[in-house]
Amino acid sequence: MKEKIIKTDAEWKKELTPAQYHVCREKGTETAFTGQYWDCHDKGVYRCACCGNELFSSETKFDSGTGWPSFWAPVSKENVETETDNSLFMRRTEVLCGKCDAHLGHVFDDGPAPTNLRYCINSASLKLDKAK
Ligand code: FE
Repeated sequence: MKEKIIKTDAEWKKELTPAQYHVCREKGTETAFTGQYWDCHDKGVYRCACCGNELFSSETKFDSGTGWPSFWAPVSKENVETETDNSLFMRRTEVLCGKCDAHLGHVFDDGPAPTNLRYCINSASLKLDKAK
């Protein structure tokens, strides 16, 4: 079984910036084209801003034109979780960190080959570990 990282809201609030806390712990969405990574082309691994879990590789990042960092696959299926999200009168699939349940964004089925998936992720939930 996977080990989960469980912390109280007060603990997360202390560790995260207000923007990270809002996105990751309150399921917020950053404004398009304002995040740190939507236009980032550096190589490396994008880790969870809350727990450091490896989430996405720059190898699967693509320019979706949405203003949010977009990936066609996670580092591994085990590292992320998905859940049906019926909020805002839409049926969407929420993407969460598999280790600490941080809200990351949503996944859509209009992405590029080979998966045709588009993981639309908030920069605030990510921390790029740049390749050396
Ligand atoms: Fe996490």
